[in-house]
Amino acid sequence: MTDKKKPKTKPEKMPMPEQPAEQRITNFDEVAIGYDEEMVLVEAQRCLQCKKPSCVAGCPVGINIPEFIKFAAEGDFESGYNSLKKYNALPAVCGRVCPQENQCEKACVLGKKFEPVAIGRIERFLADWNLKKHDMHPKGENMVKSDTKVAVVGCGPSSITCAGEMVLAGYQVSVYEALHALGGVMIYGIPDFRLPNAVVQAELDVIRDWGVNFETNVLVGNTLSLKDIIGMGNKAIFLGTGAGLPYFLNIPNEHGIGIYSSNEFLTRINLMRANRFPEYDTPILPAKRVTVIGGGNTAMDSARISKRLAGRENVTIAYRRSRVEMPARAEEVVHAEEEGVTFMNLVSPKRYILDNDNRVCAMELIRMELGEPDERGRRRPYPIEGSEFIHETDFVIVAIGQGPNPLLMNANPDIETTKWGTIVVNEQTMMTSMRGVFAGGDIVSGGATIISAMGAGKKAAAAMRDFVENA
Ligand SMILES: Cc1cc2nc3c(=O)[nH]c(=O)nc-3n(C[C@H](O)[C@H](O)[C@H](O)COP(=O)(O)OP(=O)(O)OC[C@H]3O[C@@H](n4cnc5c(N)ncnc54)[C@H](O)[C@@H]3O)c2cc1C
Ligand code: SF4
Repeated sequence: MTDKKKPKTKPEKMPMPEQPAEQRITNFDEVAIGYDEEMVLVEAQRCLQCKKPSCVAGCPVGINIPEFIKFAAEGDFESGYNSLKKYNALPAVCGRVCPQENQCEKACVLGKKFEPVAIGRIERFLADWNLKKHDMHPKGENMVKSDTKVAVVGCGPSSITCAGEMVLAGYQVSVYEALHALGGVMIYGIPDFRLPNAVVQAELDVIRDWGVNFETNVLVGNTLSLKDIIGMGNKAIFLGTGAGLPYFLNIPNEHGIGIYSSNEFLTRINLMRANRFPEYDTPILPAKRVTVIGGGNTAMDSARISKRLAGRENVTIAYRRSRVEMPARAEEVVHAEEEGVTFMNLVSPKRYILDNDNRVCAMELIRMELGEPDERGRRRPYPIEGSEFIHETDFVIVAIGQGPNPLLMNANPDIETTKWGTIVVNEQTMMTSMRGVFAGGDIVSGGATIISAMGAGKKAAAAMRDFVENA
């Protein structure tokens, strides 16, 4: 900037250009289009470059936010990207789907008076700018210099971060993933219109270039045991197997045809491309009236995908609390509404009704009212006696949460687990009860966020380095 006097801070964020709702429900392309160079300069110049930046404390991986924003504001996008990538293995992912409104942006000092700086949008711009150039990323001076081998199980954000940190520290890293594709929930759960699979794969390519060896179709605990992995010479193992086991309501007739877990529904579409059947092999049952049960990101994704599938005229979200208690990101709820999803709040399913072919045709729900807040501060829902009603539907997606898959722990009873099946770790080191075996992400915390899983992967990597050097 040449002016001596700093221009007045704009009170509002630079708006994100988006596909209009009526257009976007006809495709799976990204809803948010991203800033262009002019927009990013304007937004980055809103940052006050605080001496004690509160935004950094709000970031689970401790990104130097003012630093990358300063480079962006100066138009030095290469330095901005390099600064970001030092702290965050997946900036193009986080710039799109991190709940910034509850993290860095919530802590931004500008937010006291105006809208906070659009930190996530600037992050996305820099990451996309780099992916477009595709010829530069910090190479990491120490890549694979040591003979020491370490292994990582699962390939979601916690594992990818741990693997990236370990390879940059010079170790030989192998990642074993059960599915045929890498990325965890980022590729099989989150739809392309929020996070394109191609973006995740491009970020993974960078880490592959660093020298990480990825192996797919390996279900650890079945095709390969932890003992086998140790026998292959690995000095430490990180478990980042996530929480991919779907919960059901356990109400009558849940076995009916047309009742899906959100996991199965999302995997069929996002990973197996059922929306493009028969071009792709995986089909999905045709339907007209879809009901999604739940109020989180998974429910919003399931409903918004349904809106994009041919023939699904009515899509309803049934949630047992009110809108303010919905755990989904506010932006997702607004997008779902704009796209024509109907919200039926304060209801809880009691049973499904099946037709003669065993296919769901309706469900019985009961109305709920809210009582006192629970231990997490959300008001507890209670059924209103005698308020049952019938809701017609021919396709149901149960999106009420996921837990850890017990397979790996059943095969390794030495690994201590909680009553919810999550792995117990030492909070300082992320080591499990099995020496040399570390864990992090949803398998430890239960269903959380991408950035918190990444933070855990980073913390575990630091402890793994200590362990292999001093064991
Ligand atoms: C539909 C949906 C939408 C979401 N939206 C958001 C969002 O917008 N923003 C956000 O921050 N978070 C979101 N989340 C949450 C976020 O995706 C997770 O918190 C995060 O992916 C957890 O990362 P992870 O590394 O622990 O595990 P995961 O991403 O679950 O990855 C675990 C990987 O391990 C593999 N695996 C499991 N068992 C084995 C085994 N025995 N052997 C080998 N591999 C194994 C799995 O196949 C999987 O690939 C969403 C979650 C869902 C389900
Ligand atoms: S708190 Fe906000 S204004 Fe201050 S440095 Fe961070 S992003 Fe910039």
